[in-house]
Amino acid sequence: MENINFDEYLRESKHSETLLINQLSLARAESKQNVYKFGFGQSPFPIPEAITEKLIEAAHRKEYMNVQGDLTLRKAIAEFHNEVEGKNWKADRIIVGTGSKILIFCLMSAFKKAEVLLPSPSWVSYDPQGKLAGHPVHWVETRYEDRWRLMPDQLNHFCEQRADRNIPLILVLNYPNNPTGQSYNKEELKALAEVMRKHKVIVIADEIYSLLTYQQDYGSIADYYPEGCVVSSGISKWCGAGGWRLGFHYIPEQLGDNLLNAMIGVASETYSCAPSPIQVAATHAYQNKKLAKDFIDKQTRLLNKISQYCVEQLTKSDVLVHKTEGGFYLFPDFRQYKEKLEKSGITTGEQLTTKIMQDTGIALLPGSAFGMPFESLTARLAFVDFDGGQIFEKNLQDITYPMVEAGILALCDWLEKL
Ligand code: PLP
Repeated sequence: MENINFDEYLRESKHSETLLINQLSLARAESKQNVYKFGFGQSPFPIPEAITEKLIEAAHRKEYMNVQGDLTLRKAIAEFHNEVEGKNWKADRIIVGTGSKILIFCLMSAFKKAEVLLPSPSWVSYDPQGKLAGHPVHWVETRYEDRWRLMPDQLNHFCEQRADRNIPLILVLNYPNNPTGQSYNKEELKALAEVMRKHKVIVIADEIYSLLTYQQDYGSIADYYPEGCVVSSGISKWCGAGGWRLGFHYIPEQLGDNLLNAMIGVASETYSCAPSPIQVAATHAYQNKKLAKDFIDKQTRLLNKISQYCVEQLTKSDVLVHKTEGGFYLFPDFRQYKEKLEKSGITTGEQLTTKIMQDTGIALLPGSAFGMPFESLTARLAFVDFDGGQIFEKNLQDITYPMVEAGILALCDWLEKL
């Protein structure tokens, strides 16, 4: 029988820079060469044992739970964020899902028609999600000088030149940011909020890293523009539980019941509910505030120290890089090496990260994976190649992180030899 060919009807699948870097690092590892794993941004810290024990105890829970999420869990989430982050959340405006990622997709899919706006650089999945939901995706390029953050005048300019301003505009604002590690201070959020209000922008405030903010004087855009902000978060980062797949969205009353119900509708026709044992364990993670706060506090101090080391070394080597404000990432810009790199035939971020991997074994992701122009000589560096369990037991002054140190020094050395 002849093969049926429907390729032209398939959605385009973007070639993944992550895969390319993974293949190269596997090849190096097989030939026993060093690999520095700065490519993949996953929490290096083990989930606290008290929480994993709750999961074991709850393993027998086999029932489907409420599509919106178990009420006890939603109450625990609301209480936790109200106390720790000064929110004013009610459990009935929270929807729980199998990770915050699918909820972002549910939210985008809840709109029959919308446009999506992303500052570049932005996390890899927003753009494909917007397209899968059938929406045009627009990018606004941010600048190194602005610490890669969206400025109010850029947002205003984008909104004013839209062809049809009646179509809902969904902006995804993520802070602390993946890939840049940057956040907005309160004054900056206020100024952005004014523009958002003027243009009635729907904001997905992706706060998945907010609890891993190093200095707690950063706010949330939802403090200044509550009526238009859906807050997205979960246990993947602060609790180190990415593979547990549990996240939530907070949908403010002002955005209406229809939006919440539309999201519940998409959720019920796709994932049905988050796994019951995970919901039970996550409830304990949020209820046990002391444990959570201590865990968070220690992680942020450790991450801050390691990030500072990387920034100091890279800055000495004339790499442009901003100090991380939260999360696991740095976004070095190698533009000062442009001419030297050109002489070696390197003119794009992807060529740069490929060559760095081939020559040194350091895995980085090019800025273009995050919506930056191809010629941008930027990359994401996840400084998490260390044993989080071991480091966690030590005093801050005693910690060592040999792979991070060796990797950063190898990178500086590579640059010097250009
Ligand atoms: N948003 C950002 C910026 C992320 O980096 C990630 C995970 O890497 C997510 C959302 C998705 O998190 P979750 O595990 O809750 O789906």
